[in-house]
Amino acid sequence: MRIQHPDRPALLGGRPTFTSKLPITQPTLPSFRRLQKEYSEIFETGQITNGPLVRRFEEAARKVLSVKYAIAVSSCTSGLMLLLRGLGLKGKVLLPSFTFCATGHAVVWSGLEPVFVDVNSETLNVDPIAVEKACGLGVSAILGVHVFGNPAPVEELESIAKRKKIKLFFDAAHAFGARRGSRPVGGFGDGEVFSLSPTKLVTAGEGGLVTTNNDHVAETVKMGRNYGHPGDYNCQFPGLSARMSEMNAALGLESLRDLEKNVRARNRLALLYKNQLRGVPGIRFQRILPSDRSTYKDFSILILEKTFGLSRDQIASALLAENIDVRPYFDPPLHRQSAYASFTRLSFLQNSEKVSREALSLPLYSHMTSRSVVQICRAIRRMYFHRNALRLNQRA
Ligand SMILES: *Cc1c(COP(=O)(O)O)cnc(C)c1O
Repeated sequence: MRIQHPDRPALLGGRPTFTSKLPITQPTLPSFRRLQKEYSEIFETGQITNGPLVRRFEEAARKVLSVKYAIAVSSCTSGLMLLLRGLGLKGKVLLPSFTFCATGHAVVWSGLEPVFVDVNSETLNVDPIAVEKACGLGVSAILGVHVFGNPAPVEELESIAKRKKIKLFFDAAHAFGARRGSRPVGGFGDGEVFSLSPTKLVTAGEGGLVTTNNDHVAETVKMGRNYGHPGDYNCQFPGLSARMSEMNAALGLESLRDLEKNVRARNRLALLYKNQLRGVPGIRFQRILPSDRSTYKDFSILILEKTFGLSRDQIASALLAENIDVRPYFDPPLHRQSAYASFTRLSFLQNSEKVSREALSLPLYSHMTSRSVVQICRAIRRMYFHRNALRLNQRA
């Protein structure tokens, strides 16, 4: 007879916390009923791309984000490419290595050279001091990232960009609904780019949104998403085919209506995670200024192996055995990925190395239940209790 150990981690013979896999994320979709009116319109008029729903989505987003222009594009990656290439930047772009690969890809596809700068090990955002130091010859722009939805140090970066007379953009893929003080993310620097892919807070299925207060930037992106011409087939620069379809815009519009509710739900769940895990030795959280609001696009814990008694990867394996889906975002960081092996590094990215080894994203999505969070935290506390046995088990 198989002996059950209900209070043990699944790896040590206990029953898994969940009977089927709890996903790390899931899109929180509006009901299909709410989309029917828009979809009927699309099929009745035959206008299936770049039409009135795209305009309505852009107008609604512009208002929510308090920004002069919001321009819908096919993805965050294409939006970043249009900003970088369309504005005729040359030379080097400073960006963090602790980010999703697309931040770097947009730089390379635009014919620019990525120069990685270190992050702050508490906020996980790019470190302004490291940026200032790297601002040398040939740097034409800074590309900041609001990591996991935590607003980047925008004021410091704006002041550096102004003094050095270089451009400043943000990859705001994670940050739809984030606030820096009382200001929504979206209006900072020369332009910001949101992603509307399925894992992000506002989703259009696929898509992106470029926001800016700058007339020239807006003009360039509008032309750029349509091959690079303003409607007269006389291309001003080699643009992309990066428009948004009406079907995507309809979903984006309805998803945007749920944004505030969803950001609040994630903040509540993140607080519950922190309360449940506070006091577990060796676990810390991303620091978010009390005056700011993160979207918690991802909820990541940072694990100090020496104190917890298990490494990040050992905890990840043990959680997977509990049917809890977790990911080591962002490991490997960009500068350790094969695609970036040929780019030289100015400095040792000490904090990026450290946090990419320590960070583990736990499941979080807007319609996740509190009960699931409590169960995940219980599984983690149990792992700490059984850390010595788990360490021996995983070594075997
Ligand atoms: C998702 C993501 C992107 C890419 O967004 P797409 O819309 O899929 O192009 C870019 N940067 C970051 C930080 C992301 O998380």
